[in-house]
Amino acid sequence: MSIETTSARRHRVVVLGSGFGGLFACRHLRRADVDVTLISKTSTHLFQPLLYQVATGILSTGEIAPATRQVLKKYKNTTVLLGDVHEIDLSARTVTHRLLAHDTVTPFDSLIVATGAQQSYFGNDRFATYAPGMKTIDDALELRARILGSFEEAEVATDPAVRERFLTFVVVGAGPTGVELAGQIAELAGRTMVGTFRNIDPRTARVILIEGADAVLKPMGPKLGAATAKRLTKMGVEIQLNAMVTDLDARGVTVKYTDGTTQRIEAACKVWSAGVQASPLGKLLADASDGTEVDRSGRVVVEPDLTVKGHPNVFVVGDLMAVPGVPGQAQGAIQGATYAAKLIRSEVAGKSTVADRQPFKYFDKGSMATISRFDAVVKMGRIEFSGFIAWLAWLGLHLYYLIGYRSRLVTVFEWMVAFMGRHRGQMAATEQWLFARLALEAIQGNNEDDREVHAELGSPTGTSKAEAG
Ligand SMILES: Cc1cc2nc3c(=O)[nH]c(=O)nc-3n(C[C@H](O)[C@H](O)[C@H](O)COP(=O)(O)OP(=O)(O)OC[C@H]3O[C@@H](n4cnc5c(N)ncnc54)[C@H](O)[C@@H]3O)c2cc1C
Repeated sequence: MSIETTSARRHRVVVLGSGFGGLFACRHLRRADVDVTLISKTSTHLFQPLLYQVATGILSTGEIAPATRQVLKKYKNTTVLLGDVHEIDLSARTVTHRLLAHDTVTPFDSLIVATGAQQSYFGNDRFATYAPGMKTIDDALELRARILGSFEEAEVATDPAVRERFLTFVVVGAGPTGVELAGQIAELAGRTMVGTFRNIDPRTARVILIEGADAVLKPMGPKLGAATAKRLTKMGVEIQLNAMVTDLDARGVTVKYTDGTTQRIEAACKVWSAGVQASPLGKLLADASDGTEVDRSGRVVVEPDLTVKGHPNVFVVGDLMAVPGVPGQAQGAIQGATYAAKLIRSEVAGKSTVADRQPFKYFDKGSMATISRFDAVVKMGRIEFSGFIAWLAWLGLHLYYLIGYRSRLVTVFEWMVAFMGRHRGQMAATEQWLFARLALEAIQGNNEDDREVHAELGSPTGTSKAEAG
């Protein structure tokens, strides 16, 4: 079997998604004798690991989400299209994407699908109304508006119970994102906000981190989990382990503990970082293939060469692929995309064939999480360390993977402002950020007429409904 093009035209590679997987696929194809079309429902390459810093006023969206068009400007063989892919026809070798009211069909010879994952509320999707996840720019800006708005409400509240509700912040899920968010909300309350209100003392804010397992940062092992819990507790974060959120509404959460007891916590501001669900394109692809399946999170159980059964020209990479031992992390996406792109490059050039493919091998470079300024945890194989050195390692690595010289420069400046002093440079928040998601859902729905109206008004930049998808 071959993935080569038979006609005189150049081989067409379509890449879906502009996250780590999509971007690195384009990067490794930029000098290949192929035409690449990248289609993504967001107009930017989003550096998700720093979303929590946008949510807590340290960074602006520009630093972590440069326009994909600009990032790929110099890749002369690459075309960037904005839109939500909703159909993949493996026999006709086409994908169809929608930009508001317009459908576009794009043919491919090879396809790399890197559409990632979204937040999972484990079947309780109504929780999303009151507790945004942390997956998109919209999520981060909405959360910033919710956090800062809660302090504003507390400042004018006359009823002590209401004031307490607005000064209680609940983070659900103690993985890296939950830990980082809880730590930053605690620092915001305990450092940045101090002295800026007249009726409340922000230091009295409660930050509660709720986790269903028996440890924080469980995949990083007991030693780093314990170090993280100790540091968070010292910062005033209340950690509740073996605790499942069973209900969540505008005013708070209900938590059930493994000993069978339940507790109601009144909290205006909640954030959900407890689970992920793969992009629906995974199931669509699996169903269209010759027997490939998806796992419980909707990730595609790919073949050893990251393709789907019966289609050696269709690769699935990043958070959307299920490969034993490969975590849903940036490195998994980067290495998977690089592997797929190199295979295509080599086979199109006639240097190898599908029969020559070696299975994808993941090289684990480790994982890390920040707890607060000057404090992080790092795990690299058997090496585990925490504290200031770990934080410096975190700092360097994140700067390295940020796209663009300007982003790095501005980020260093913003970090100096936030970590050395008490100020944060990105504390703007508007009512629109707070309500836009719900308003858009109400306005847009699935109504064709509404889409027509929106199309007439002009296309968005792809950071609104598309991201919420
Ligand atoms: C808050 C947070 C913190 C994280 N921290 C870390 C960390 O510290 N270290 C680490 O290694 N990893 C971290 N990760 C994980 C890491 O970001 C992901 O593993 C990585 O982004 C996966 O890359 P991807 O390309 O598979 O998907 P993504 O980066 O999620 O990109 C998916 C792309 O597909 C597009 N898309 C989705 N559906 C469609 C569609 N239907 N049509 C068109 N386009 C579509 C999206 O717009 C997006 O551009 C974090 C993730 C989050 C959310």
